[in-house]
Amino acid sequence: MRGLRISLTDLCNYRCLFCHNEGLGKAESKNRSPKLTAEMIEIIALASEKSNVQKIILTGGEPLVNKEAKDIVLTIHDAAPSIQINLTTNLILLKESFAVATSGKIHKVNVNFQSSTAEKFERMTGVNGIKQVKENIAILKRHGLENVSLNYVYTRLNAEELRGMIELSEQQGVDLKILEVMDINNVSTLRSDIGKAKALLEDIGYSEYFSPNVSDTRFQVPSRGAGKIRLISAYCNTRNIAACTAHEEIRLSPDLYLRPCIQTTSNSIYIGDDVDRRDVLSVAQKILQAFDPSLKICP
Ligand code: SF4
Repeated sequence: MRGLRISLTDLCNYRCLFCHNEGLGKAESKNRSPKLTAEMIEIIALASEKSNVQKIILTGGEPLVNKEAKDIVLTIHDAAPSIQINLTTNLILLKESFAVATSGKIHKVNVNFQSSTAEKFERMTGVNGIKQVKENIAILKRHGLENVSLNYVYTRLNAEELRGMIELSEQQGVDLKILEVMDINNVSTLRSDIGKAKALLEDIGYSEYFSPNVSDTRFQVPSRGAGKIRLISAYCNTRNIAACTAHEEIRLSPDLYLRPCIQTTSNSIYIGDDVDRRDVLSVAQKILQAFDPSLKICP
């Protein structure tokens, strides 16, 4: 599924130890960063539909830091109803009004969730927020947003939390995504062997049922319907261009650069002038250009 990952802001209210900031620099230096507006997003959504984008993933920084996040979701939904909208968030800033207004419009919410214990959650994210985030997951579900996944970055600091995270996802009736740390911005020292996560899953009865590509393996317990687990290895770590290209996804930064590669800005394509002119066709052409596999060259 062809996806455009849109960063609504560089700002974030968490300080995750593993954060790679997607090549955008340290969180502390981001205060001057622009934010995308609903007006800009309308052009981008129209252009995305024309360039055969099937999925838009709203992310950040923390997307809910952007005060226009709700209007942005509604704008995409109205402008490009064929496009699936996903949201990747730490969820702690969720307001009930957001869940009410976006119910039925967001396909999936991925929640940054690094530990099943309050103490480790705070250590990993810098925020004492586990209780609030659990309450906010309940709010999503109350308003019909059932498709929730916990995004758990498997590091040497929280690898021992895996069993607790599996139990938590089962209790909450949500999916779990186990993500390998990427070698970006010196966070590679936090890497933990994702093979051990796979071994534990198999030990406790999960079995592989689907593998859409070499970096994405999906597990479930056949006897229990709910709760699927995905194990995502980082193709950048092995410079697996074939997997990278097959995973048709590009990024848009809040300062309106399309980025074919998470690791470098050298192939970025600027669309700010076209968005200002509300030139949908030109933005669509540049989106198509950014999906060109030849721009995938590991730095
Ligand atoms: S081209 Fe960039 S995103 Fe793709 S695997 Fe290489 S480093 Fe990663």
